[in-house]
Amino acid sequence: MPPEKSAYALARYSRSADSIRQSVDWVRTHNSQQFLESFYFQYGHQSIADLGHTVLCFEGVSELAASEIEDEVLWDGQARSSRYQDFSKAGFITPPEMTGDEVTRYQAAGAALLQAYKEIHGLMDTWLKGQLPCPEEMKPEAYKRNIAARAFDVARYLLFWGIPTNVGQVTSIRTLEKQIRRLRVSEFAEVRELGLEVAEACAATPECLWSEGEAEPLAPTLARHADPDEYLQKSNADLALWAQQNLKIAAGEERRVDLVRPNDVLSEIAATLLYPVCDASFRQIYDTLRQWSAARRSEVLDVALRSRGRRDDMLRGFRGGQYCYDMLIDIGAYRDMHRHRRCHQFRQAYTGQHGYDVPNGLMEAGAEPAYRAAMDAALAAMRTLPNPARQYLLPFGAKSRFLFKMDFAEAEYISRVRSGVKGHFSYREIAWEMKLRMDEVEPELGRLIDATPPWVEDPLKR
Ligand SMILES: Cc1cc2nc3c(=O)[nH]c(=O)nc-3n(C[C@H](O)[C@H](O)[C@H](O)COP(=O)(O)OP(=O)(O)OC[C@H]3O[C@@H](n4cnc5c(N)ncnc54)[C@H](O)[C@@H]3O)c2cc1C
Repeated sequence: MPPEKSAYALARYSRSADSIRQSVDWVRTHNSQQFLESFYFQYGHQSIADLGHTVLCFEGVSELAASEIEDEVLWDGQARSSRYQDFSKAGFITPPEMTGDEVTRYQAAGAALLQAYKEIHGLMDTWLKGQLPCPEEMKPEAYKRNIAARAFDVARYLLFWGIPTNVGQVTSIRTLEKQIRRLRVSEFAEVRELGLEVAEACAATPECLWSEGEAEPLAPTLARHADPDEYLQKSNADLALWAQQNLKIAAGEERRVDLVRPNDVLSEIAATLLYPVCDASFRQIYDTLRQWSAARRSEVLDVALRSRGRRDDMLRGFRGGQYCYDMLIDIGAYRDMHRHRRCHQFRQAYTGQHGYDVPNGLMEAGAEPAYRAAMDAALAAMRTLPNPARQYLLPFGAKSRFLFKMDFAEAEYISRVRSGVKGHFSYREIAWEMKLRMDEVEPELGRLIDATPPWVEDPLKR
């Protein structure tokens, strides 16, 4: 199925009693673009786009562009191997922004590097054969391949970012959208063009089909919405300017590998935000920021958030710290919170010994006695049954203990997304408390969480 259609079928599946076969049939006769327009783009149910995946290949792109393409955390793919392929054969890419004499100088330098690559590979190949003769039990073909690979490992030092490569990737359409938006604001013209080409490819009929059949565009709705990521672009410019005006760092020791264990999350996040826009080491930036007042450190965070739009996630730099939220919550809320993957979760055994929650409204509805009687009876019955099978009887209103460990950006995300008026009141309260706990522990970070209090309600909103 084209990914946007599979996303529609699976999203619909979660909200209808139909089987998957019926859902697929439904999608055949309904407009998936219209569905995505409203649910994904207007209502912001971003996880719908996790339910459709695309396979995309980039051919003849520079190594530099490939590395920009691959700069995604939720990404699967592979690029040409510098160990098994001879990179001297395909020439190199001249950046489209170069003109006149620059091109001549660039091309001469590039050709010289490739010539040296070939030469070094030959010399290493010969030398290695002398050092490591072919063992009797090894097939000559395998020996040749291994020696050539070792020689390429050395010759690789002479390859450069302009060398062309191929990349094949598999991503969800959610990641793809973020990727296109990011590529479109790259400082490199080649990368910006690739961003546009990916969007065009999503809107066009695919050319290489596995089998004969009806071909249709893979992700036309996404293609319409994958605008340049202005937040990324503006925040980088804002941070660079701020660093230029405010950050003076004395040169320090340069270590090949340094291990910093920050004990102050505000400084850690501020230092991470500034790291890509200056050239000092992380330790130097962090140590400098540690000397500053909390207000000045917070200013960095404000600069990084100044241009954030409604649909933008916090910048990667906010992924700092590790917060351990210990939650004694009802199973129903856990079922929802459990879906968050960007954290590490641990649970205690389902014993039923922590009692149960009584949702608001039961008393007013005159339903509390019946509710309590049913819950008490179920928990009592549970105690008489053998473990582990008795856990099947644990009602969703019963409480259990769960540990969620996450960085600040995920705490912000869960608290913001799950406290919204569209959610269930149970996890809305938990998400709100996540913000309150952050306010207590890290007031400077807590203030950045735009969570909706549980008393703001709109029961008819979905
Ligand atoms: C109003 C509402 C209704 C819902 N209805 C249903 C329903 O009917 N059925 C159902 O099953 N679910 C439902 N969900 C849950 C939803 O489908 C998601 O499972 C849930 O929101 C968690 O996914 P997430 O992408 O929002 O967040 P997270 O998993 O917390 O991820 C946060 C962000 O990080 C990214 N990310 C996640 N893991 C990684 C990683 N390892 N590396 C890098 N990035 C990562 C994500 O793509 C996302 O952008 C609902 C959610 C909401 C808010």
